Amino acid sequence: MKIAILGGGFAGISAKLNLKNALLIDESDFFTVTPKLTDVISGEDPKLSKLFRRVDIRAKVREIDLRSKEILTTDGKLTYDKLIIAMGYKQNVNRIKGGDKLLRLETTEDALKFKEEISKSRSICVIGGGDLGVEVIGSTVELVSKLSDKQITIVNRGNRLLPHMPLEISLSVEDILMKKGVTLLFNTEVEGVEGNKVITSKETITADHIFFAGGLKGPDVEVKPNIERVNDRFIVNDDLSLPGFEDTYAIGYSAYLKGTPGTAEIALQQGTFVARNITSRKEKFVAKPLADVIKVDQEYLGIFLGKPVKGNFARALKEIAITNTIAKVNRINIGLTQFS
Ligand SMILES: Cc1cc2nc3c(=O)[nH]c(=O)nc-3n(C[C@H](O)[C@H](O)[C@H](O)COP(=O)(O)OP(=O)(O)OC[C@H]3O[C@@H](n4cnc5c(N)ncnc54)[C@H](O)[C@@H]3O)c2cc1C
Repeated sequence: MKIAILGGGFAGISAKLNLKNALLIDESDFFTVTPKLTDVISGEDPKLSKLFRRVDIRAKVREIDLRSKEILTTDGKLTYDKLIIAMGYKQNVNRIKGGDKLLRLETTEDALKFKEEISKSRSICVIGGGDLGVEVIGSTVELVSKLSDKQITIVNRGNRLLPHMPLEISLSVEDILMKKGVTLLFNTEVEGVEGNKVITSKETITADHIFFAGGLKGPDVEVKPNIERVNDRFIVNDDLSLPGFEDTYAIGYSAYLKGTPGTAEIALQQGTFVARNITSRKEKFVAKPLADVIKVDQEYLGIFLGKPVKGNFARALKEIAITNTIAKVNRINIGLTQFS
C-alpha cells in the first residue's frame, strides 16, 4: 500500500515515525521548532530553532486530486492509496485590510528579520493577544530591555490576553507586560493597516513596526474537487479522515475538528493516532492536552492538566516538550521509525 504524508512538521514527523514505508514529502529540508522562534527574537542562537530533517521527496505540493488520488508537486506527479495531509498553517494576514504587507513569524529567517526590525524601530505594535502575540511581545520586551526605550503596544479584540488560559495566568502576563511599560488595548478591533498606521475601532496607532498575530489559517494548496474547508483547514471526521474521501486524512493545524486545540502537542498526537488507525479505521481521535506554556520576558507561565503553572515547573514542561520533539526529528534522520 502506497501511503503519502504531505508535510514533515510536528504532525507529519509523528506519522512518519510510525509508518516506516510511507513517503514523506516536504518543500523544505528543515524542521522549524516554532516554540523556539520567539527565543531567536530575544537573542538565542537561531540554529536551535531550525533542525535538518530528512524527507523522502523534497518538493512543494501544488495540487491534490482526491478522486484520482494524485498529487501534483514541483517535482512531478505522484499517486497514492492513502494520504495524510500535514501541511500546517499560514498566518491569516488577509483577515485585515493591508495585512498582506506585514511581517509574519513562520520561520527562523522571519524571526531574525523581526529581531533586526525591532532593533531599528522606536515603536512596535502587535496585533493579537493569543499565545503568538503574547510570546512575541514577551521576547520583544526581553530584547528591548537590552536596547533603548521603545513604545510597545498590543491590540486585542477580547477583554484579556490569552483567553484560553486560566484567568490567573492572563492577569499575571498582563501584569508583567504593564510593569515593562507595554500598552495593552482591550476590546479593540483592528480594521486595517495603512503604511505605519494601525486603524482600530477605537483609535489609530502609529508604529514603525507592525506585527500580525491575529490568527492562523490552513495551507495554500489547490484541492480537487473543491471541498468545503474552514479557513483553508480540512474538515475531518472524528477519525481524522475527510468526509467522502475516507482514504485521505488531515492532521495537525491542516485539520479542522471542532474543539480540538491547534497546538504542536495535539499535532504530534494526531500523527501517531493516524499511523495506528490508517489500516483499520475503528477509533475516534480524542485530544489529550497536557501542557501549554509560554515565555514572557524571562518568565514561564501556562497550563498543565487544566491547572495554572508558573516558574521552573512551567519552564521544565516547555523544555521537555522541545527536547522530545528534537529527539523525534533525530529519529527520522537516522531512519529509525517505531510506534511511540
Ligand atoms: C512563533 C510560533 C510559536 C509557537 N509556539 C508554540 C508552542 O510553544 N507550543 C505549541 O504547542 N505550539 C506552538 N506553536 C504552534 C505550532 O507551531 C503548531 O501547532 C504546529 O506547528 C502545527 O504542526 P503541523 O504539523 O500541523 O504544522 P507544521 O509544523 O507547520 O508543519 C507543516 C509542514 O508542511 C510543510 N509544507 C507546508 N506547505 C507545503 C507545501 N505546499 N508543499 C510541501 N510542504 C509543505 C512545511 O514545510 C512544514 O514542514 C507556535 C507557532 C508559532 C508560529
